[in-house]
Amino acid sequence: MVVYSFSQINLYNQCPKKYQFRYLDGLEREFETSPDLILWTSVHWALEWLYQQVSILNTPIKADVLWKFHQLWNDSIAEAGEKLIYKWDQHEDDYLRRWEKYLESYYDKYSPFKDTTVIATESMMNFSLDKNTGSESKQFRWIIDRLDKDSEWNFIINDYKTNKKLPPEGDDEYREQLTLYAYWVQQKYGKYLKNIKARILYLHFDITDEWEISQESIDNIVLKYTSAINKIENSRFDYNMWVKDAFPTNQNSYCKYCEYQNVCPLWQHLNIEDEMINGGDLWETTIKKLIDQYAEYAQKATEATKEKDAIKDIIIDYAEKKWLEQLFWEKYKISVSKTYNYSAKDLNALKDFLKEKNLIDEASDIPYYKINALVKNEKLSSQEIQTYLDKKDSWRLSPWKKD
Ligand code: SF4
Repeated sequence: MVVYSFSQINLYNQCPKKYQFRYLDGLEREFETSPDLILWTSVHWALEWLYQQVSILNTPIKADVLWKFHQLWNDSIAEAGEKLIYKWDQHEDDYLRRWEKYLESYYDKYSPFKDTTVIATESMMNFSLDKNTGSESKQFRWIIDRLDKDSEWNFIINDYKTNKKLPPEGDDEYREQLTLYAYWVQQKYGKYLKNIKARILYLHFDITDEWEISQESIDNIVLKYTSAINKIENSRFDYNMWVKDAFPTNQNSYCKYCEYQNVCPLWQHLNIEDEMINGGDLWETTIKKLIDQYAEYAQKATEATKEKDAIKDIIIDYAEKKWLEQLFWEKYKISVSKTYNYSAKDLNALKDFLKEKNLIDEASDIPYYKINALVKNEKLSSQEIQTYLDKKDSWRLSPWKKD
């Protein structure tokens, strides 16, 4: 049974092919260590230690929390050794200076930590998204930073963010994440709690985003992530059936940082040597030359179509004004004829009328691009697609100027 996490689902949403490389093809990237990652773990562990002490009524002084942070940071730095690389002219002192200040302000803001009771810190959540169906196939796993209870029996899910990016209005990824945690809290502590609240602590900005999680938002998020997992499982099924594009590529702004670029069908060709292509007696060339040639033809064809349409409008206008049905010059003549395209004034009324006249079958062909849109926009399940649709290959070449 596959156990899912937010990072897995987000990775699939960002690019299904990347998900395939990482989780199915075993192309696990070598574990990278960075000062930001070390910082993330050191801050989380220091705060975990702080709240563990609070929960045994042994609230540490500020200096002890900072000492703990330094100890965890130093241990992790020593363990990382030479693998640790500072980027963009940053040094260890830059991180420590900032984070001492952030932890100090955190301590000043929340001490003496008496407003809440700590239920759990860094607690591993394991839960099933399809609990109500009796099936346990959609398993989810993640770690909750801290769970508190206030005096009014509200359970509060706390999540620390250490990054220097504040999500803009409308970016709900973190909120969704905590709403899904609430589903687990509800299953585990439902009999004790009155309401569930969520609190995201942006430590770099000293900003707290806090809100109450409604039952409706939990239901919606469970539905959303259940369908996301369904989608991944369908892709996994196709992949096991050797369907080549079970996990399609998705060109996106992260491609340039993607560790799988050299095996990705979108970029791999950049690393392939040019090859001779033999077109029989007609020509011999290389595949790379053909790429530019094709793109140039395509561009010329687009320009020619534009010009042709402009000329067409002039000719039609001329012929219409002079009441002519054929125009002549040295090599060619052009016949000019008018046909009509009809569309329904009221689609339902027209359908009823055609049914009455027994003509509905003749008029109800659905154009292929509309069927494609239904599939692309996931309005049909894979079962429905298999039952009602035939799938045929359709290739398209789209030339773009290289960056
Ligand atoms: S390079 Fe881009 S398209 Fe290819 S796997 Fe990575 S993210 Fe996906």
